[in-house]
Amino acid sequence: MSIYKAPLTDIRFALYDVLDAETLFAKLGYDEATRDLLDAVLEEAGRFTETVLAPLNGVGDEVGCRFDKASGDVTTPPGFREAYAQFIDNGWTGLTAAPEFGGQGLPHAMGVPLNEMINAANLAWGNFPLLSHGAVEALKQHGENWQREAFLKPIVEGRWTGTMCLTEPHCGTDLGLLKTRAEPNADGSYSITGTKIFITAGEHDLTDNIVHLVLAKLPDAPPGAKGISLFVTPKFKVARDGSVGERNAVRCGSIEHKMGIKGSVTCVMNFDGAEGYLVGQPHKGLQGMFTMMNTARLGVGLQGVGLSERAYQNALRYSLDRLQTRSLSGAKFPEKPADPIIVHPDVRRMLLSIKSLVEGSRLLALHAGTLIDVAHHAKDPAERERADVLVSFLTPISKACQTEWGIENTYNALQCFGGHGYIHEHGMEQLARDARITTLYEGTTGIQSLDLMGRKTAATKGAGLKLFMAEVEAFASQHEGDAALAEFIVPLRQKTVEWAALTQGVLQRAALDPEEIGAASTDYLFYSGYVALAYYWARSVAAANASSHGDAFKQAKLETARFYFARMLPRTLAHAAAIESGAAPLMAMDAERFGA
Ligand SMILES: Cc1cc2nc3c(=O)[nH]c(=O)nc-3n(C[C@H](O)[C@H](O)[C@H](O)COP(=O)(O)OP(=O)(O)OC[C@H]3O[C@@H](n4cnc5c(N)ncnc54)[C@H](O)[C@@H]3O)c2cc1C
Repeated sequence: MSIYKAPLTDIRFALYDVLDAETLFAKLGYDEATRDLLDAVLEEAGRFTETVLAPLNGVGDEVGCRFDKASGDVTTPPGFREAYAQFIDNGWTGLTAAPEFGGQGLPHAMGVPLNEMINAANLAWGNFPLLSHGAVEALKQHGENWQREAFLKPIVEGRWTGTMCLTEPHCGTDLGLLKTRAEPNADGSYSITGTKIFITAGEHDLTDNIVHLVLAKLPDAPPGAKGISLFVTPKFKVARDGSVGERNAVRCGSIEHKMGIKGSVTCVMNFDGAEGYLVGQPHKGLQGMFTMMNTARLGVGLQGVGLSERAYQNALRYSLDRLQTRSLSGAKFPEKPADPIIVHPDVRRMLLSIKSLVEGSRLLALHAGTLIDVAHHAKDPAERERADVLVSFLTPISKACQTEWGIENTYNALQCFGGHGYIHEHGMEQLARDARITTLYEGTTGIQSLDLMGRKTAATKGAGLKLFMAEVEAFASQHEGDAALAEFIVPLRQKTVEWAALTQGVLQRAALDPEEIGAASTDYLFYSGYVALAYYWARSVAAANASSHGDAFKQAKLETARFYFARMLPRTLAHAAAIESGAAPLMAMDAERFGA
């Protein structure tokens, strides 16, 4: 089985040295978020994920969840229930939630390393608490007072979990097509009827109640996405005074048999006149849905980071041990029968690709986390607005790139093991299988790309990009005379100029042909991701140089940054060429000629 050790040194480096989170948290009024407390949280999260969750990762994969057709009940894999009980006893579910709802009120950014560690240790288990965060945000921002009072505390305390019930058999991406209906009742509630599929944690045995956030249409709904409303529909009915009543008319009809994340349950949920309550305004459910989705998207992005970190740790260990052939430049370990495979350039290519992507992604995710804190807590409204625009811009990049890289990284790590990587007992094939879902759910990579190119760039006239480039330029100017950083700052500046020109080019072509947005979008997303990581790598070198870390750490950051700029950033050249080729090469072929 694969091993996992929480990467606390790098997490601390990213948080304190690169992002200066301590100063930021103090400025935002998080008086209790002292370095001592934050360190204790990280240590304990590391202990919990290494010793409680990681050992259950293989069991979850092998045993999976079991479904009882007669009762509609789901049994989670052995040990999942006990681990969840410890999780809530230790207060992890409310780490960053507001104290008024039973949370500990720590900065949102502190949830980022916690979730990275959970996902690395046991992604399937992590899916049970994951969607509760989205449900909390949706109810907090869009719910009525009684709904906040009745639902938030039990969810924040982990006694209940939340779900997102969006997908139906005929609609995943295009939710405007959904058929689930909500009929108003005389008492102000609604009767929800319809079938949802692929519902993560739709049924399980970890908590007493499950709070489904369901998209449905009212009888007078206009067609399409503008007619969607959001409803809170618990497994056991909850009255306005918070008391829990009888079983609601919502049941799990079956569970899916999947390629990976077998310990995470994916349910068909049948709503048969279930009692639900409207959250937010009628027909305005998309607002609540986006609140849930944005939270969940950053969470899924961290699944890519967690899996990549674990894959790297195992591939590194194996590459240091496995003896195969001599180095091209002569024996490096003449006393051994062969050199360890880490001497070979191609193995180093794979290891450094993973290392540079995972450490860079960690910063991207943490930066997004700190921006959420600024967006919620900065005193200056302009600063809040700026952070909000920037995190909205970074969200699709974070979700899609981190998960796509998660697939690449887990495959590269498996490749380091040669044929042994394909064999179940090493645990590498599980990481690769588990990673595969992350680019699909919470909006596919194609949909994240359209979000970035369309809603976050074209529709805002590049507002998010301008803010990000201003950050890059501020950093570059600050280190203008620093000879040690010139090798990173010069190409980084060139890339931002190219990024702006590419954006401009797409927007101009899109004014004549709307297909240009879709044609450019996925290459544009990757291009943006690679340039963003170049910025975080340049910052990492600057922060490492200024830090109290030892020489080996500083040197490793420098060499990884050099690898990144030399071998990963040039991927932008191919993406830029694809973007500039426009829509014609994609759209020329008639649909019927695809089969010719
Ligand atoms: C294990 C698992 C767990 C899940 N958990 C949940 C959950 O908890 N709640 C929930 O509601 N859903 C959940 N889902 C559903 C998931 O979010 C959807 O599967 C996903 O959004 C894609 O929808 P779809 O499968 O219907 O694919 P489709 O929408 O049919 O898309 C098929 C392909 O077409 C592409 N495509 C579609 N439209 C466009 C477009 N306009 N432009 C470019 N490309 C396009 C897509 O990118 C994709 O490649 C889960 C799915 C799985 C497999």
